Amino acid sequence: MASNTPMGAIARLMEELGKLPGIGPKSAERITHHLLANETKEVVALADALRDIVQKVHPCKQCYNLTEGDVCAICSDARRDPTVLCVVEQPRDVNALERAGAYRGVYHVLQGRLAPLDGIGPEKLTIDALVHRVHQGGVKEIIMATNPTLEGDGTALYISNLLAGSNVKMTRLARGLPSGSVLEFANTQMLADALEGRRTF
Ligand SMILES: [Zn+2]
Repeated sequence: MASNTPMGAIARLMEELGKLPGIGPKSAERITHHLLANETKEVVALADALRDIVQKVHPCKQCYNLTEGDVCAICSDARRDPTVLCVVEQPRDVNALERAGAYRGVYHVLQGRLAPLDGIGPEKLTIDALVHRVHQGGVKEIIMATNPTLEGDGTALYISNLLAGSNVKMTRLARGLPSGSVLEFANTQMLADALEGRRTF
């Protein structure tokens, strides 16, 4: 049987939806049938939106946050303080800190955290680019805002050792965040407090 028969297409969509976080086989089936019953133009709009995030969105040349331009909206905002650099694991951590609304500096997105057991070493992250950014000068403070997990702490320590010789103040988010919690799920007041109470490495 050809794989592009209608049944094949339905099964394929259910399978793809089922790979998404928080969507089990039942939800995948429900969403698929919802889409099948929907107006064609709404379903095409969803398909276009999915295609756009793949084709148009890429890492910012400066901070590796996600953007559609060369440089993201935060890096290109003249009101942000480029002398303070907040280092996070993922673009969604930038979103969480921005929602807290307490930070006026810029970011550096590592695109992950060191996880030796999973084979994720420094070369898989944007650590080289961070060091290069710092060596170019102009950065006075680096706030390590990796997650308060074993791997997040290890990553922060690794980077602070790398930059130990540079004349930059290194701080870590205060432990208002419960240990082991993940930044993106912290509430905004907690994040604002963690930034406010940051301490020197
Ligand atoms: Zn940027």
